Order: sequence, then structure tokens, then C-alpha cells
Amino acid sequence: MIGNFFGFLSNDIGIDLGTANTLVFVRDRGIVLREPSVVARYKTSKKVCAVGADAKRMLGRTPGTIEALRPMKDGVIADFEISEAMLRYFIEKVDKRKLVPPRVVIAVPSGITAVEKRAVKDSAIRAGAREVLLLGEPMAASIGAGLPIDEEYANMIVDIGGGTTEVAIISISGVSYQRSIRVGGDELDESIIAYMKRAYGLLIGERTAEEIKFTVGSAAPLDTGEMTMDVRGRDATAGLPKTIHITSQEIREEALKEVVTQIVELVKNALDRCQPEHSADLIDRGIVLAGGGALIRGLDQVISDATGLTVIQADDPLCCVANGTGKFLDLLGTLSREQVDRLVTQ
Ligand code: ADP
Ligand code: MG
Repeated sequence: MIGNFFGFLSNDIGIDLGTANTLVFVRDRGIVLREPSVVARYKTSKKVCAVGADAKRMLGRTPGTIEALRPMKDGVIADFEISEAMLRYFIEKVDKRKLVPPRVVIAVPSGITAVEKRAVKDSAIRAGAREVLLLGEPMAASIGAGLPIDEEYANMIVDIGGGTTEVAIISISGVSYQRSIRVGGDELDESIIAYMKRAYGLLIGERTAEEIKFTVGSAAPLDTGEMTMDVRGRDATAGLPKTIHITSQEIREEALKEVVTQIVELVKNALDRCQPEHSADLIDRGIVLAGGGALIRGLDQVISDATGLTVIQADDPLCCVANGTGKFLDLLGTLSREQVDRLVTQ
């Protein structure tokens, strides 16, 4: 009742504080904002001059006086001040001041420390939240993917983000196994940059590398036939613009394979370490993939081949965590204090 009352007067907010993208979910409205987790600031005064999409445009092509930074790089808070600036910017952007300040649920990478969690909470309070709850990213992803987290059966979620890949086994509203590696979609881009330089002496930037990944990137041979693409960059020796013709096969085998293998190993380790009952459950339940990295063609197949389990891609993997924070806001009114305590990360 109280919850409904507050709901009428305020816009409760869910935030997916990702290494690559921040998404904001407003209760009863859904995802209202999705912007890159990037902050641009003046080098000397440290004053923030742009956040989100505007700041990302400056990455790699900033004038000498401005630097563009990723506050959540590698799944830890790289810089408290710019993280706070980013959080404040996003909360203020969506919070159309109602009578009561919003309750804010924030999904954070599971690798962040207690001090970092405190900093995220304080930042959100300073940005106008009346209450802040933190959800571990795998828990938020599981709720977002519609997994029955309150059952005793175990479910495995693998969230492949920009800077990290997190694996977790969830049952009875708790996390029973969790690990993350500082490898994700960004690392794939870096491998493509290194490959183009090594194989063709071609220098390309992060944006071109990501585009190659989207267009021809794959983890397994493509049923539909291999693809090709022209890539433009700068010749490392001549210093002049150059175009190179590449195939999806070479990108997969020469550039992406190593990172894909690390993700597969993370999943295999989780299966190796989890409780035997949970292994048995996973035979029925399979593995759910979330995060932008879940969209790499054939990754589900590669993980399935390596583990013998069914692998399912979550609906809308890029929005899974944000949707989870939204569903959690809806659930809050129905949960006991103990249940909430089990779900949130303290
Ligand atoms: P985070 O939660 O860390 O912010 P996201 O879940 O938003 O990360 O995923 C971002 C990553 O997903 C980026 O590395 C991006 O390049 C990658 N990505 C997004 N769409 C695709 C796609 N269609 N194919 C491959 N990778 C993708
Ligand atoms: Mg994420």
C-alpha cells in the first residue's frame, strides 16, 4: 500500500551501470535512456563537459584539452568523481521531479568492492534518490531474462558485457556461484585492431573494430556462408589511407578465437566448481546468455558444444539487466525484508 502510494508520487528508477552502456528504466514506462558509459572532461580543470553519447563521440578524437573516460572500465569504478558525475547526469535526465524523490535500484558489476558500492549509493543519494538498492549484475540479468530465481533449481546466467564477462549460478533467490573476468566485447575489438595491424599493417580505431565485429564477427562457422567486408584504415608504414578486404573466417580464427575461448573456459570452470545438484539441474535448465556479447554469431553454439548443455540467448540481451532492475522494482512491494536482503548486494 505504502509502495503504491509512493509509486503514484514518484518515478522509481532502475539503472544498469554497465562498462559499455548505461540504461535507465523508469517504473511504468520501461527503458527510457540508453547511452554509452563515457564521460568527457577538461584535462586541466577536471570539469565534466559531456556525458553519454556526446562524450563517446569524443573518444579517440578529443581535442588536446579534453579527455574522454570510461568510469566503469573493467567492471570496477575507475574514477569515483566521474562515476558520480555520470550517475547524476542520468538520474537528473530522467527524474522529472515528482513530489517524492525516486527509489533507485542500480545493477553493478559483481566485482566491485564494498567501498565502491558505498560510493555508488552515496552518488545516487546526492543525485536525488530517496533510497538506493544495489543488485549484482548476474541477479539483475537473471530477473530480466525471466528466470525463476526463487525456485530451488539452479540456473546459470552468463552476461557478456563490454569490459567484463560474469557467470553466476542462481537458486532460491541467491547467488551460489559467481565469477567474472575482465574480458568482454571490448577485448574482441582490441583483438581485431591487433590482427589488422599484424596481418595487413593497417591501423584502425575502436569504432571501426567494433563495426567489423558487428558486421562479420562470429564464434562458429556461419551456416549462411562466410561473409566479407572492406575495411578502411591507415597504412602503418606509408601513413596513407588504405582499404583491405577481409573475411568472417579470418576474423573468427585469427582475431576473436582467443577471447571466445576465455569465455568458454569461464563457463566450464563454473560447471566444474558448482554443487553436484546444481550440475544436475543445469542439464534440464541449460545456460542463458545475456549482455551485448551474447549477440556474437554462433557463441551459443560454441558454448553448447563445449559443455554439452543447451544454451539460450536471452530476449533482447542488451536490455536484460535494465529490464531486471525494472522487474525488481515491481517485485519490491511483494517481497519481505529478508527476501530483499537475499537478492540485493550489500
Ligand atoms: P555492459 O553491460 O558492460 O555495458 P553491454 O551488455 O551493453 O555491456 O554490451 C556491450 C558490448 O556488446 C560491446 O562490446 C558491444 O560491442 C557488444 N555488442 C553489442 N551488440 C553486438 C552485436 N550485435 N554483436 C556483437 N557484439 C555486440
Ligand atoms: Mg551489463
